[in-house]
Amino acid sequence: MAPRHPGGAAIALQRGLDFWAKIQDYHLVALQQFGLGHQLPGRPRWGAAMSALPVKSEAFPHVVHSVADLRKAVGAYRAKGERVAVVPTMGALHDGHLALVEVARREAERVVVTIFVNPSQFAPREDFSRYPRDFDGDLAKLARLQTDLVFAPDVSDMYPKGFATRVNVSGLSEGLCGATRPHFFGGVATVVTKLLNQCAADVAIFGEKDYQQLLVVKRLAADLDIPTRIIGMPTVREADGVALSSRNVYLTPEQRRVAPLLHQTLQAIAKTAHSGGNVGTAIDDGFAALAAAGFAPIDYLALCDAETLVPIARLDGPGRVLGAAWLGSTRLIDNIPA
Ligand code: AMP
Repeated sequence: MAPRHPGGAAIALQRGLDFWAKIQDYHLVALQQFGLGHQLPGRPRWGAAMSALPVKSEAFPHVVHSVADLRKAVGAYRAKGERVAVVPTMGALHDGHLALVEVARREAERVVVTIFVNPSQFAPREDFSRYPRDFDGDLAKLARLQTDLVFAPDVSDMYPKGFATRVNVSGLSEGLCGATRPHFFGGVATVVTKLLNQCAADVAIFGEKDYQQLLVVKRLAADLDIPTRIIGMPTVREADGVALSSRNVYLTPEQRRVAPLLHQTLQAIAKTAHSGGNVGTAIDDGFAALAAAGFAPIDYLALCDAETLVPIARLDGPGRVLGAAWLGSTRLIDNIPA
């Protein structure tokens, strides 16, 4: 007997697939209840997550690796009328990142954190391969903040064969970190543009710790009509003033002891600027103090206009004091308002 309608077999097959997908969804929910939602077939098993299993009702975030799955999840939030906030990171999360997640939590019903160590912002001799990675630990921390979704794409998905586009934000990208790391902001601008497009979030939260990056991101979002609102949040510091950074784990105990001097130097320059003193002399003194303490090289110390990042000699509106210097093989950056 002929099927009642020609598409019958296909529909039956589709129903079977839908049923299987539902079973997998239940499986996923069950796994997430136990903090194992990221242990899906075909993905690495993150064994250490079991030892970090939260004891209370903290569900691990749902983890997606593909843009299609990200869009599906975000689309489902939107279909329920929920707002979405995204926090882009390179992982190895610390309290500075988590402060951004808390802001995201306040800004929207759903929080997405992206974890992607972006190769295109590292020069060949930089620390891409040794950059700290702790996916299990990150998920445990994010679970405590009720993060809904983690997007952790593979490099080959972000930059598939034939990828040929690079976003360049001229002006803002050129001085300071852009002068000493010419590859850096092109890589950052490209990946952030992709992430903002992929997540289609209402708001995205970035840290002032990377102040030049924050301005570059605000510029590209405005220029490229990306409808995500960009929010910048103040730097989270250790008690001695050192800005939290994933790279601080590289510091030896001796380097960590002298690290606060960078922040102190920026404070001295800001104080001089506020009192109308000679900023050039304060910067020279800063170079000398950092060099004497073992910082080498010192990439820059500067007082800049807070919006354009053009170096200035005196305050004539909101300013920013910024610095970057190396302790051994670790490059520290910091900045404060002036
Ligand atoms: P990263 O993982 O280093 O790329 O940083 C991801 C986001 O966290 C960026 O927006 C950084 O500016 C922000 N961030 C990093 N360190 C801090 C900190 N100490 N305080 C506040 N935000 C931070």
